[in-house]
Amino acid sequence: MTATDTAPVESPGSPNDAETAETADTVDTAETGETVDERQPLAELYRDLRTSPKGLSERETARRRLVYGVNELTRRGGRRWPRELLDQFTQPLAILLAVAAVLAWAGGTPALSIAVVAVILLNAGFAFVQEMQAERAVEALAAFLPATTKVVRDGVRGEIQARDLVPGDVLVVAEGDRVSADARIIDGDVLLDLSSLTGESEPVSRSRQPTAAPGSLLEAHDLVFSGSTCTGGEATAVVTRTGMHTELGRIAALSQRGTTERSPLETQVRRATWIIALVAVVMGAAFLPAGLAAGLGWSAAISFSIGLIVANVPEGLLPTITLALAAGVRELARKGAVVKRLSAVETLGSTTVICTDKTGTLTENRMRVTKLWLTGSELDATTPVDDPRALALTQAAAACTTAEAPSTTQPNGTGDPTELALLRLAGEFGVAVDPAERKAARRAIFHFDARLKRMSTIDMDGAAPTVHTKGALETVLPCCTQLLDQQGTAHPLDDPARADLQQAMDRYAAGGLRVLAVAGRTVDAGRTVPDQREDAESGLTLIGLVAMADPPRAGVAEAVVQAHGAGMRIHVITGDYGPTAAAIARQVGIGGRDGRIVAGPELDQLTDAELDVVLAEAGEIVFARASPEAKLRICEALRARGEVVAMTGDGVNDAPALRHADIGVAMGESGTDVAREAATMVLTDDHFATIVVAVDAGRRVFDNVRKFVLYIFAHAVPEVVPFLVFALSGGAVPLPLSVLQILAIDLGTETLPALALGREPAEPGLMSRPPRSRTAGVIDRVLLLRAWALLGSISAALVMGAFFFTLWRAGWHSGDPTGGGTPLHHAYLQATTITFASIVACQIGTAFASRTDRASLFTIGLWSNPLLLWGIAFELFFTAAVIYAPPLQHVFGTAALSPAQLAVIAPFPVIVWGVDELIRWARRSRGTPVAPTTPGPVLSPAQ
Ligand code: ATP
Repeated sequence: MTATDTAPVESPGSPNDAETAETADTVDTAETGETVDERQPLAELYRDLRTSPKGLSERETARRRLVYGVNELTRRGGRRWPRELLDQFTQPLAILLAVAAVLAWAGGTPALSIAVVAVILLNAGFAFVQEMQAERAVEALAAFLPATTKVVRDGVRGEIQARDLVPGDVLVVAEGDRVSADARIIDGDVLLDLSSLTGESEPVSRSRQPTAAPGSLLEAHDLVFSGSTCTGGEATAVVTRTGMHTELGRIAALSQRGTTERSPLETQVRRATWIIALVAVVMGAAFLPAGLAAGLGWSAAISFSIGLIVANVPEGLLPTITLALAAGVRELARKGAVVKRLSAVETLGSTTVICTDKTGTLTENRMRVTKLWLTGSELDATTPVDDPRALALTQAAAACTTAEAPSTTQPNGTGDPTELALLRLAGEFGVAVDPAERKAARRAIFHFDARLKRMSTIDMDGAAPTVHTKGALETVLPCCTQLLDQQGTAHPLDDPARADLQQAMDRYAAGGLRVLAVAGRTVDAGRTVPDQREDAESGLTLIGLVAMADPPRAGVAEAVVQAHGAGMRIHVITGDYGPTAAAIARQVGIGGRDGRIVAGPELDQLTDAELDVVLAEAGEIVFARASPEAKLRICEALRARGEVVAMTGDGVNDAPALRHADIGVAMGESGTDVAREAATMVLTDDHFATIVVAVDAGRRVFDNVRKFVLYIFAHAVPEVVPFLVFALSGGAVPLPLSVLQILAIDLGTETLPALALGREPAEPGLMSRPPRSRTAGVIDRVLLLRAWALLGSISAALVMGAFFFTLWRAGWHSGDPTGGGTPLHHAYLQATTITFASIVACQIGTAFASRTDRASLFTIGLWSNPLLLWGIAFELFFTAAVIYAPPLQHVFGTAALSPAQLAVIAPFPVIVWGVDELIRWARRSRGTPVAPTTPGPVLSPAQ
């Protein structure tokens, strides 16, 4: 038996308890901030906490917050940054560079050794700052989702931030809530999931009844604990401990930082980084004999080997990617989608199917009753009429609620929108419900059950206990034996009456209305009030139907068009009636004219193989009257077909499906804490359109990562080719580039534009291409070809051309000496300088080319990424300093270039970008996809 099955007869805290509290004069704990003994008799607990079932006053809570502090767990371990900074130096790539520095020192080139150490320091510092920024971005997300909790203060129920709870507060815990403090139950009963404290996943029942034999605190039957979640029922409890004084606070391990999980993207890039580092080391090692054979001394050969390694190890790549993902997370949060894992950003981009709820996600969740159906008549609910049957229907529907209509203290009311609509109807019919009177009259409540799809209450109607039931017609009808006829008398339910009801229901549903059947009966005099659901919900008389409108939200239809354009399918999984849901789905463009409806019972009949066929064949499906288990089943079936599933949910029972989906999406406004915790992404506005916005952002972040990977990879070719030319010519061609010049490119000119590429605005057509395959890697064949064979090779050709042209103009012939003191030495210095400057010029062209994957640069605008322009400005300034500032000339072995020489390299950026632009144009005209949409990447994700 679950808490929702039982009939917790409402028993407000004993008046004696309250009296005791008011006359109590012991104030020690509330004054000193010490904690109380939560297991002492309730009266004493009230006294010690100086509280009562009516809760504290606002002023008192403000005072206690000063005494007890805010209700938050503080992190142990103090400052973390020194450790994190140190971690940067123990990364394998940093160690590799350190070995290179030692070798350089041992090889007799201390200047190079110092330069490599500078590389290590700068990289570590840079990576550290990036990671801290990324971490801060994720931590800042908490502000978008403040934990709230329901409390009773000054006798009024309201919602506050969980951090403002103080001992003595009266807490209301209902299904789906996360408990925010340790508390003692004073009323009601709940099912608690204590797994975060005990590891036990089976929920336990907790009520006001104390445990017979005192065991451990966590086993006490009348206590609830911070960090646990309520999976059923409702209870009121008085807070005994908050913040670090709670049991959760005491479990030290839980307050320590969790380990950050590595995203598939990171894993992939990490692997790619290693492969490239390995290639760099092999290349560096191979250069050693080649350099010696070409006539270099040992020391020079070693230093060039090291230069090659240092230049090609992509040590900054990972932190740059982490930062790009974190920037994506931050941007998403601003747009209403709080993502809890960095890796979710990339998964979002490959979403192929969205499974969405209807109510509140596609619709406004602001219901209004528009029609009333009674035997033989149909009334327009917006113009109340004087009909005793309509009044009975309205009264019964409104009695069977727990919501509270809007009032001066609660301008929006509280509770389920369906019930708020019924309370509003009652108000319009002049039978407004007063929550206090309703509570006093209530004898039992059988909460709304998402599986049964109905709810019942037993309330005193005058002297007679009366059962009130409302819910889906097909689940209320089996509980009824009679129907209220035109004269207002109960008649046995016959088949024609059933057919009439069904017809009315279908008519309303076709217009997208949500229909509830309302029934009731008086408990016969002398009979006891039923305490079992089955007994209460039997032999009822059906009074009539209420139909309510819940219009589609603005912007949903547009988002659906966008999702379709992006190759995603949308299935609706709802608890509502099929034709109602299908009508709403059609209104927003889901499913088309003949979209298929699969109702709960039909789904239950389908075998897994049959479900696979349905999912494969049908376009977009409305799964109606779906149970929470159905969500999980559909999710698993879709995933087994290779789909990447984003699944929405809001209730406690949705948690398993949210966890199983690739992207579990919880509702921030209407969802339960349990759903929010299980989800990967929380929509702060509950809006379907935000899911599509998030997919768009996910695709953009992934694209941008590819952009800077392309940019960083492309520069390796023009850096390596000069060394190859030197080695392969056996020294007849002097080295076109010095080691320190390579380091200047790596550190000084490359980094800022790479970072700026991570912030590119979305490329046109981003949401009109199909989703990326789940297995498509960020680094694939297309990217490598573009980086090395296209951009890199053109750059290398231009760079070498400029080098030879400069030497040739000075009268150099193959094999001529160019060392210090020779006539050609100055020309040689200028030639290496022009190699350096040419690489920078080609980098600028590569950066502009990398800005788009497929589109023309002109469609996104030359100046639309100001960060990149600043990065390039810095790059040019740094290059000019290296070429023209005498102290830097000395360090980097450069010589000033003449205007004529500069004119030679000036067109390089345009050439590199122009060739790439032409190839992109050719691809567009042939319709060849640039982004991988099929499996078979060079490097596939590890997971
Ligand atoms: P979703 O949000 O998943 O799209 P939903 O909100 O329409 O769907 P449920 O809340 O599970 O789904 O409701 C399913 C059915 O249960 C409704 O069509 C209605 O008939 C009935 N129902 C909903 N709320 C209540 C309630 N508070 N009391 C009684 N019956 C209800």
